[in-house]
Amino acid sequence: MNNQRPIISVSHLTKRFGELEVLRDINFEVHQGEVISLIGPSGTGKSTLLRALNMLEPPTSGEICIDGELITVKGYPLHKMRQKIGMVFQSFNLFEHMTVLENITDAPIHLQHLPEAQAKEDALALLKKVGLVQKAEAYPSELSGGQKQRVAIARALAMHPEVILFDEPTSALDPTMVGEVLSVIRQLAKSGLTMLIVTHEMRFAQDVSSRIFFMNEGRIYEDGKPEQIFEHPVHSATKAFVQRIQKLVYEIDSDDFDYLQIHTGINRFCIKYDLHLGEQAYALVKEMLFTHMRDIRPLTLRMTHAELSGVTSLDFMIENLDHSPLTEAALLAIRPKVKRLIEETTPRGFRVKLLL
Ligand code: ADP
Ligand code: MG
Repeated sequence: MNNQRPIISVSHLTKRFGELEVLRDINFEVHQGEVISLIGPSGTGKSTLLRALNMLEPPTSGEICIDGELITVKGYPLHKMRQKIGMVFQSFNLFEHMTVLENITDAPIHLQHLPEAQAKEDALALLKKVGLVQKAEAYPSELSGGQKQRVAIARALAMHPEVILFDEPTSALDPTMVGEVLSVIRQLAKSGLTMLIVTHEMRFAQDVSSRIFFMNEGRIYEDGKPEQIFEHPVHSATKAFVQRIQKLVYEIDSDDFDYLQIHTGINRFCIKYDLHLGEQAYALVKEMLFTHMRDIRPLTLRMTHAELSGVTSLDFMIENLDHSPLTEAALLAIRPKVKRLIEETTPRGFRVKLLL
């Protein structure tokens, strides 16, 4: 299918930390232009695998070939390989004492011996690409998380790597800043750059990737195109993982509950999953908690979002009906109100349930 030599070729890779077997017999090839997302539960070796690929975490056994060269042999000049493989971390790892421009030009000048003027010109072009030319002279502490991560991406690109490895590039960000970073990565994917991305953003993984690795228990459990992994997974563990539901839960046990915390929580949840209904959802919650269900405590409020199907639900759960002051009559009265509230305030795709 693909006759080109792979850029990355991994065979029988294992990694142990003492007794702990973190990577077990990993085998795969990556060809130029592939965008591979690594998904899976935490602790299954995704970061360790990325770190093994550029020998930040040397494997216990097995072989890694980069661009036709075996890098796992003793004495291989790692600086040579690291110029081919860029890495972007969750926590940005910028040099705080350097300006944005210096952060980007440092490696090209000192490792690739590029003339300073040339390195600066390249860096400015890259900053333009990530939308941050105006921040060239700023220090990292003056930037938002999303801006720092875009600088980190520009810094990785400055070495003209063959491959960039991203380890949860948006996990440390405020939800409002996730979008700007993902859009830079999308743009790189379109430009044909080869990338491996560890991510928990399922919808992003689904539409940016040419291939997905579902990792579980130190293995690549399932390797396939996004349609396979997300729509017709072969393994039940893959299915369970990709169909998981995001949850936001609040226990409300008295009248002086922290409604501001709920307000902020709902808004952040809606921004994170791109739901555009934070204010409506909160208005609904407020009306339910303060009016229709005012006398019902304790009460559990749950907001869920199934990323793949896109269904969002708000559930008001009354756990202990025996001890709640809610009578049959009150229930009968509440039901039509809930129904009306739903019809009046909820846009499509938004379900509200009263669970007893
Ligand atoms: P993931 O990125 O999928 O969440 P990791 O690759 O970070 O998983 O970690 C896999 C396992 O390896 C975890 O159990 C973790 O605690 C362990 N681990 C990772 N790095 C080290 C280390 N340097 N020393 C010991 N154990 C480690
Ligand atoms: Mg990790």
